[in-house]
Amino acid sequence: LDELLRDIRSGIGYDIHPLGKGRKLILGGVEIPHKKGLIGHSDGDVLSHAVMDSLLGAAALGDIGCWFPDNEPAFEGVRSADLLRRVYQILLEKGWRISNIDVTVIAEVPKISPFREKIRTSLGEAVKLPLDRVNIKATTHEKMGSLGRGEGIACVAVSLVFPVS
Ligand SMILES: [Zn+2]
Repeated sequence: LDELLRDIRSGIGYDIHPLGKGRKLILGGVEIPHKKGLIGHSDGDVLSHAVMDSLLGAAALGDIGCWFPDNEPAFEGVRSADLLRRVYQILLEKGWRISNIDVTVIAEVPKISPFREKIRTSLGEAVKLPLDRVNIKATTHEKMGSLGRGEGIACVAVSLVFPVS
């Protein structure tokens, strides 16, 4: 156990996208009914982006920009949940396994809590984790600043990974 504990790695991911009309709102691969959606080169799935960065960070593999450059036409309009599956595969191939993922979504609107379990299930499926190792929390920005005015959604994710010996 001591040997294993020595090589446990944590990683943090942070992302933010503006909300705009004429876009679907996708969080963790789940479509949330709302009058606006997240603007971005991909589907703007801020939650999947933060989780990917936390996983790549834990494994010291850079960030999503290194693996999926946003000036690459191949990633235009791509489903971020599919990119997350690829990040999971990359970690697997490098000999890493995921212990758990914890996520905080910061959104003034819409209310995320009714979709929490759906997002949790979707995220767990993408990275092959049981539900007791995936956690989704939602908070507001207490009406302060651009997030508080509902102009965008931010997300923070923390992951723990360990090597397979
Ligand atoms: Zn992003």
